Order: sequence, then structure tokens, then C-alpha cells
Amino acid sequence: MLTAVRVVVVTTLLMASLIIQYTSREVLPINYLYLTAGLTYALTLLYIAVGRVIRSRKFHLAIQISGDLIVETLLVYFTGGLDSPFSFLYLVSIITASMLLYRRGGLLAASGAVMLYGALADLLYYGVIPLPDQIWFVPTPWTSSRLYLNIATNFAGYYATALLTSYLSEKLQRTSQELVANRQNLAELRALNQNVVDSIPSGLITLSPGGAATFINPAGMQILQLDAHNVLGRDVAELGFFSAEQWSHALSRLSYEAVIRRESDVMILGEPRALGFAITPLKTIDGKASGYTLIFQDLTEMKKLEAELRLKDRMAAVGELSAGIAHEIRNPLAAISGSAQVLKKSEALTPQEQRLMSIIMRESERLNKSIADFLRFVKPQEKRALDFDVAASLSETLDLLTNSAELTPHHTIERDIDPPSFTILGDADQIRQVFWNLARNAMQAMPNGGALKVTTEVAGDSYRILFIDSGRGMSPADLQRLFQPFRTNFPSGTGLGMAISYRILQEHGGGIVVASREGEGTTITISLPVRGAATMPADVRRTDSLPAAG
Ligand code: ADP
Ligand code: MG
Repeated sequence: MLTAVRVVVVTTLLMASLIIQYTSREVLPINYLYLTAGLTYALTLLYIAVGRVIRSRKFHLAIQISGDLIVETLLVYFTGGLDSPFSFLYLVSIITASMLLYRRGGLLAASGAVMLYGALADLLYYGVIPLPDQIWFVPTPWTSSRLYLNIATNFAGYYATALLTSYLSEKLQRTSQELVANRQNLAELRALNQNVVDSIPSGLITLSPGGAATFINPAGMQILQLDAHNVLGRDVAELGFFSAEQWSHALSRLSYEAVIRRESDVMILGEPRALGFAITPLKTIDGKASGYTLIFQDLTEMKKLEAELRLKDRMAAVGELSAGIAHEIRNPLAAISGSAQVLKKSEALTPQEQRLMSIIMRESERLNKSIADFLRFVKPQEKRALDFDVAASLSETLDLLTNSAELTPHHTIERDIDPPSFTILGDADQIRQVFWNLARNAMQAMPNGGALKVTTEVAGDSYRILFIDSGRGMSPADLQRLFQPFRTNFPSGTGLGMAISYRILQEHGGGIVVASREGEGTTITISLPVRGAATMPADVRRTDSLPAAG
């Protein structure tokens, strides 16, 4: 740029003198102008060449400014020395140096200008070099006081210019450095902000003052199972957190409360999820209201856990009491069903009365069974761990089922028990109870017939038994509550079989994994530790996908 400016300035001067030369009648002795112009062009080429070789910007600038100062001195010399109108040109170089090389460059350029100008003036004053002829003006006689006054004013002017300009340009430089640093800080802050918002496990939605969503973080999309474009711009009421009037109620409360916390059931993918959320007003830096933030969490799993724990607590508390009551019921119940049984045989009974007797007997039996299950659940028997043949136990249980009334001609039980004998350590009665519960559930899940396949395998430290049925399967919600006591979908169920089985397997250091899909069947895999294996923590899993039943 400096080079370009220099060429433009010199060319302008040259053109001006040429025009004057050709329009004026007299022939002007301005050859010195051609000389300086030529010299400047030559120097410019030299600077460019030097710039190619020397990469240091500072050094390159220093060379150019030094060259300019010399050319300016020549121009001043040709145009009358102390009387020359061109001594202001030094200022151009001093300003350039101050701007590009800051204070040191400016002061050096000012010093150079003062020395060159002073030396020229002295040489002319003392007649060491002749003063060229002047045509523009009649040179005034030079007195020594004028000489020194002239040098002194130039001296002061040059240095003042250097100091002022460099002060300004240094300040400008500092400001632009600060700007860069601030921009960097801002970018870092923004990245941090982004990271925080992206990585918090809570959902975050910002709302405009009108209640339309303006932002949602990844956790929010995950919880709501929605993409950003399905959320942004939508009204908060449409997102399911609020009804329109609840929202306006919340808004009026937010005018005097800092935060509103609530819980509500929001339908997500067709299932109600318990979301806990907090709304706070959002303000701009200068404190103006700019909308709201909505922070939310999915509390469904937590609530479920809480409910399970609560249930456990309740069960423990009422367990003792109800066990006692159950016993109290059982004894009279035995008397009732025994009496009914005797009475039923009486010849005096009409068929209608016979039927009623049967109902008494059947329902007594059912009640007795419920109580037996219940007692087993609230007061599990002491576990007697002995070596027993788990494969044989399984076969016996399946034999029992095959011969039971529950099996219709539409049912098949296929077994693949290999090896036919396998000894583990455990309570044979309790394990048999588990087999019975699972096999019977499978039968009950296939009221219109179907196939139950039972296979065994030894996998590492565990002995596994798979119960694969082709029954009606379970919905994800049923699957979730499978092990909770008293949840039953079977007509004569008590909802205790799975809970008891779970408990027994857990006490044996085994586990149970259930995979089921509605209408397609259920695969239940239980595992028991083989003898000598370190007892593993119970593995309970429920999935709504079915592994390929092999
Ligand atoms: P119950 O058999 O007394 O109902 P369980 O604890 O054995 O109690 O079973 C609980 C519920 O789990 C059943 O009512 C049924 O809805 C479901 N269930 C258990 N096993 C199966 C299965 N193999 N297929 C489909 N549903 C099942
Ligand atoms: Mg059952």
C-alpha cells in the first residue's frame, strides 16, 4: 500500500509539472522534478526487489521510509532549502513510520528527518553546497536566527507528530488485540455454554414470552422422543406439559414467584411418562423479560422404583400380621370345605343344591391355594441347600404337568433336557416350585392350545433353563410389572407365582430374564449357578423383544 501511495503521489506531481510545462509560455527550469520522480520510480522497483528477498516486514518498511526521507531531502534542496514548500513531505513519512512501526519507528523517522533537514540547512547556510536557482520566489536572506528557528520548529513538529501518531496507532493496535482476545473469550464461553446445555441429563427448553419453544437441548429431545423441528416454534401447551389455562395460571404465578415446580403425566410415544419440571423466567442482560426456561426430567423409572420399594416395605410390615390372619382363615376353611364335601354326598340334596356345594368346595379350594401362595410369599421357607439333580427335577415337574388336567390335546410340551442328569446345590423343593410356576404360566398363556418348549444348557458358570411358549405374550407395561405381587391377568391367578420364583432364584444366586412380545409368545430364561461357581448377583431383565426361539 505504501508503495502504491508513493507511486500515485509521485505520478501526480509529475503529471502536474508536465501540464504546467506545456500550458505555460515560459520554459520552466523544473528538471529536478523529473529527476526526483525518476529516482522514486527506481527506488520503488528496488523496494519491491528487496521485499522479495527480505521477508522481515519491519526491515522492509525501514528501508522504504529511509529512502523516502532522502528523496524528500533532495526535493527540499531543489526547491529552496529553508524556503521550500515541500518540507511538509517529511511529515508524511513520519506519520507512515509511526503508524506502521509505532513509537520507535516514528521517533527514528522524526530523528532522520531532523538530521537530514538540519544538515541540508547547515550545508546551504555555510555555502558548502550551492543553492539551485529558484523561479517561484525570490529567496530571502538567511540569518542564523532564522536558520535555527526554522530547524527548531521543524524539530518540534516532527517529534510531536511522531509521538501523537504512534500513540494513536499503538492504542488502536491494543484495542484490536483486545478485540481479538474478547472474541476468543466469547467463543470459548459460548462453547462452554453449549457443552453444559448439551451434556446435562435434564431436558431444557426455552420459551418465548408467548410460550413458543425457541430451543431444546439433546436430553430434552431424548426425553420427549421428538426432533428439534417437531418442538421449535410449537406452543408449550402442544408439548403436553400444560393445558392452555394451566399455562396462563403458571404465567401469572411467575410474576411473583421465581420458579414453579410441577409434575405431570405426558404422553410420549403413546405411553404416559411422569415428567417433573421447573419453569423460571428468562431475562436479558439488562433485566428485561425475554421468555421462560423449562427444565424437566423423566421421573417414570424413579417413581416405579419408589413404588416397588414402598410395596416391599408394606409387604414386610403387613407380612407378619397377615400371615397370622391367613392361618386363622385356613383352619375354618378346611372345616368348611370338609363339611361341604361330606354334605355333597348326601342323597337328600337336589341337583341345584349339589351344584352349590360344588361351588363351595371349588371356591374353598381356590381360597386355600391363594393363602398357600401368599404364605409362601410373605414367609418364605428356610432354604435347605443340598446337592440335587436339577435336570431330573425339571423332568418330573414336566411329567406332572403333562398329566394334569390343565393340558388339553391342543397343548404340546417339547423337551430337550441335555444332559439328562445335572447336579447342583440348592433347595430341590423350591426350585421345583419355580419350574412349576413357569411351566403353568406358559400353559395358562395358551388357553387355546400351543407349544411349550423347555431346553437346558450349561453356559460357563451357570445352568440355564429356557421356557419358550407360543402363548399370548405380554405388553411392555405387563412386562414391567411382571414381578410385582398380586398382579395377575390369568383368570384363576393370584399374581404371586413370578414374585415367588424371583425370590427363590435370587436366594439361590441365580437369575431370570424374560423376553416377551404381545401375541407372539414368551421366552423365560432362568439360570442357576453350577456347583463351585462363585455366587453371582441376581440377573433380572425384562425385554420386549424375543430372541430367536431355537
Ligand atoms: P398368576 O399366574 O397367579 O397370575 P404370576 O406371577 O405367575 O401370577 O404371573 C403374573 C402375570 O404375568 C400373569 O397373570 C400373566 O399376566 C403374566 N404372565 C406370566 N407368565 C406369562 C407367560 N408365559 N405368558 C404370558 N403372560 C405371562
Ligand atoms: Mg402363575
